[in-house]
Amino acid sequence: MQVTSLSVTLEKRVSDSDYGSERAEAHIACELSFGEDPVLALGVLLDEARICVERELRKSVTREVRKRLNPPLRLCDECGDPLGDYDQYLHAGCAEAQKERHQRERAEAERSWRERSVAELTQGATPPEVVAVGRGNGGQAPTAVFQSAAAGAPAEDDDLEDLPL
Ligand SMILES: [Zn+2]
Repeated sequence: MQVTSLSVTLEKRVSDSDYGSERAEAHIACELSFGEDPVLALGVLLDEARICVERELRKSVTREVRKRLNPPLRLCDECGDPLGDYDQYLHAGCAEAQKERHQRERAEAERSWRERSVAELTQGATPPEVVAVGRGNGGQAPTAVFQSAAAGAPAEDDDLEDLPL
């Protein structure tokens, strides 16, 4: 069988988000010479029809229609590359990587917070009341803090460094 002619119809309807829509339709036909690839020609016709339809809809006076014709590129929250149609906000691999990074960051924040707390305790710069609240233990200052406040002597600082973290 020899395909001698082709025609395509492409229609696109875009909602204006206000109970209306705009529609554009393109009909394109062509004759094929002997030996021309009909599948290739069909692709060309469809591309041409899509370009025509979208070009017309982009001329809409309605902002919502124009916006729908120019959706923002969806990018991965983690790596910044374009997302696939089935991705939400992250690539599957990136979701795992982000989870691990957040765990690392939390651990790092906790570590530096502990170091700061210990440094403040050993320097005696922070009043015991403030330290007690900051440690999130319901206002109960650790025993060692009271000891340090009571003693108030630099010689006690060595003992504080032995506090379990
Ligand atoms: Zn990604």
